Amino acid sequence: MAPTEVHTVLAPVRSTGRGVFSPGLTEMIRVCLPLQLEGEPPALGACLHEIRGDTMGSTWQLRWAGHAQADRAQVRAAVQAELDLVVAQMSTWLPGSDLDRYNQAGAGTWQALPTAFAEVMQAALQLADASAGAFNPAAGALVNLWGFGPAPRYSDPGFAPPGPAAVRAALARCDWRALHWDAQHRRLYQPGGLLLDLSAIAKGYAVDRVLQRLSALGLQHLLVEVGGELRGQGLRPGGLPWWVDIESPPLAPGQTSLPLTRLALHGLAVATSGDYRRVYTCAGRPLPHSVDPRTGEPIAHGLASVSVIHRSCMWADGWSTALTVLGLEQGFALACAQGLAALFVQRDADGRLREVLTPALKDLAG
Ligand code: ADP
Ligand code: MG
Repeated sequence: MAPTEVHTVLAPVRSTGRGVFSPGLTEMIRVCLPLQLEGEPPALGACLHEIRGDTMGSTWQLRWAGHAQADRAQVRAAVQAELDLVVAQMSTWLPGSDLDRYNQAGAGTWQALPTAFAEVMQAALQLADASAGAFNPAAGALVNLWGFGPAPRYSDPGFAPPGPAAVRAALARCDWRALHWDAQHRRLYQPGGLLLDLSAIAKGYAVDRVLQRLSALGLQHLLVEVGGELRGQGLRPGGLPWWVDIESPPLAPGQTSLPLTRLALHGLAVATSGDYRRVYTCAGRPLPHSVDPRTGEPIAHGLASVSVIHRSCMWADGWSTALTVLGLEQGFALACAQGLAALFVQRDADGRLREVLTPALKDLAG
């Protein structure tokens, strides 16, 4: 989802202890800053460059501080090359991608994975382990069944959500423990009919790759966004941080506001998952695109959104889905145990939104 909004101008703010209030506004702004400043500020006279494009059924955006004569075509080509590599290896939508090839492979075969795919797969398996399968890279059959895969889509005419027997059959094909990752030979076992889906982590990984590639090209001050997942490094021209606001889920009728969380993405990434975008309704029940592999059903525990702030966008992205699937109680406990900086927005029974912050996020906001 695209739950964040990039701010180009920051209103002056006045600190009031832990929270920070913007003068003239009644609403509270919570400002989160990294604990350390890294590197030199941009050169005096550095310009703000901005380029954007399409990828992964969504958009990407890059902002950077640099010389007025920067070779924008070279930068664009570098970004596109990294994004295309991730799509060619990990897309569930592109016939012939390496992931598609794995998904089509026969039962009992070992499939060699290219390096990037292997890196994401290893992280996805770690997340599956850490979240006891709430994050499940083998959930493709379930994701497709509920209409969130390439076809049939929930938005297609005549699409109907599945019944319990179809859910049970799909669940039987989602056992991530049957994957058997062979790190030494960089190959993955296909037990038969298992469909990988890395959509909940690949966008964040793509952000990290773009940032690393551009750093190698000499860009030190940049903000990269792919489909709403963001990572920043260095500072804007003029020395301000790359400010990003976390989008609030829609408020309940009568609820006036939630605090606005504003992040300085200086050596930090943020990813948000939630239940209010890419969702459809069936018999009055909202069916969001995060599926709980423990029940086989789309999540329905009222967690409206989870944002994770992490140095790596891949981990921020993956964890935001893992915690979303777990729900507030289990997700919050796990986020605390893992030392994650996370913001949970819970929709209570009366529809009102309530925020819960992990201690690591409170430290950033301290
Ligand atoms: P969000 O911004 O809500 O996290 P993402 O696109 O990053 O959205 O991740 C959602 C996608 O992840 C779904 O469309 C589906 O392809 C996949 N997915 C759904 N449920 C799970 C799950 N339990 N574990 C891993 N991936 C999932
Ligand atoms: Mg995500």
